[in-house]
Amino acid sequence: MSENKTINTITPLFSVEVIEKRISEIGKAISDDFDMVTQDCPLLLIVVLKGAFIFAADLLRTITIPCGIDFIHASSYGSEKTSSGSVSIKHNLSITDRHVLLVEDIIDTGLTIQQISAELISMKPASLSICTLLDKPNARKHPADITYTGFVVPDAFIVGYGIDYNERFRALPSLGILNS
Ligand code: 5GP
Repeated sequence: MSENKTINTITPLFSVEVIEKRISEIGKAISDDFDMVTQDCPLLLIVVLKGAFIFAADLLRTITIPCGIDFIHASSYGSEKTSSGSVSIKHNLSITDRHVLLVEDIIDTGLTIQQISAELISMKPASLSICTLLDKPNARKHPADITYTGFVVPDAFIVGYGIDYNERFRALPSLGILNS
């Protein structure tokens, strides 16, 4: 077995406690804003896999209104820390007339969320809103209409709390900048 000699250090950004507090604030805002939904027609969280799955699990448990969950798979990054410039989207969703909240891990250039939004809007939801754990406004190339943002972050490569680099660091409970 060959030894992996790559050593990465992580600069801490947001602790477990800070993340938890911010998510409960977002959950309250979502619950207040969507108080029109009912058990018969609950809010639908659509989680963008893979990076948003831990965020979405914690967020779901802070939302106090009727709420369902479904998933969409998007990949815009390959094995390197740069955007591939194209997005692959896979889903099996049915969202016509539903109030939809897209839950994303990071909005960087905005390309992924723009392409997912266009696809979902073509399916005629009652409404479509965007919630992202992290926003990198300095990296934006495509406009993104974000309603709920966890944290605004610098244009650096971030890992932890479900967000990986080549499937590493997802299990870190906190968020930090990956230094190469
Ligand atoms: P965008 O299409 O907005 O440029 O990129 C969005 C996607 O790229 C995110 O959902 C995430 O998967 C990935 N991405 C963007 N910035 C980072 C980052 O700092 N760290 C990691 N691990 N992924 C990122």
